[in-house]
Amino acid sequence: MDPLSQITLLTAENRKLKEENQLKSDFLSMIVHQLRTPLSATKWIFKMMLDGDLGKISDEQHNIIHRGFESNEQMIRMLAEISHANHMNEWKLAFTLAPMDISDCIESAIGAFAGEAKLKNIRFVFQKHDHLPLVMADKEKICLVVQNLIENALKYNKPNGTVTINSEIFKTSLIISITDTGIGIPIDAQKNIFGKFFRAANAKEADKGTGLGLFVGKEIIEGHHGTIWFESTEGIGTTFFFSLPLAK
Ligand code: ADP
Repeated sequence: MDPLSQITLLTAENRKLKEENQLKSDFLSMIVHQLRTPLSATKWIFKMMLDGDLGKISDEQHNIIHRGFESNEQMIRMLAEISHANHMNEWKLAFTLAPMDISDCIESAIGAFAGEAKLKNIRFVFQKHDHLPLVMADKEKICLVVQNLIENALKYNKPNGTVTINSEIFKTSLIISITDTGIGIPIDAQKNIFGKFFRAANAKEADKGTGLGLFVGKEIIEGHHGTIWFESTEGIGTTFFFSLPLAK
């Protein structure tokens, strides 16, 4: 085949692949959207029961309904992760940077997971600095990263464990660390941990997950010219770190 025909053929194949990719992405968006509605309805039914709006419930009933509520919340978060991974390419072009206080994300994630932490008897340790410098970031996206790291620290923790969140300034960056006392990441799994859909064997035994949170998190942090990394010992615990540029 002559070079011109080859180029024409490759261009047509490329267009076809792009169209197929778009179809898959639209299909996934549609599924996520359709599943979200019944999950939200279930959430509010659980919430009404927990708040006593449908009549008084015993402590035992409260505990069981609370577990149902938390599982439903987990499914909502997993769907959100699938949706974020699906839209990652569009996102990367659309970060809205502004000076932000990362403590807000940390506090709201701790608040969101307080119920689940109580069920596993896990303690959060976070000392908010009065004058933590602001970082230059897209708040909504960075809060997603913080939420995922705190969720993992809780999900892969052991009963009666702790999740400790610290911050420190290094040169022109702020470094946040999230340390847990959980199952840790096996050595052979460590090199794959930020890969799409990757889940270590010990994590699959411990809890449900999509294997997308860290993939999305790495894209978001690196899209902000930051870095994300971890240190982990199997059976002892894990610390995830990420850095973000300080606002000028
Ligand atoms: P998910 O938690 O949904 O499986 P993530 O992308 O957030 O997906 O994490 C990918 C994998 O990294 C997990 O399945 C688990 O194997 C490992 N992992 C992440 N955080 C921790 C942690 N704090 N402790 C132990 N393993 C972890």
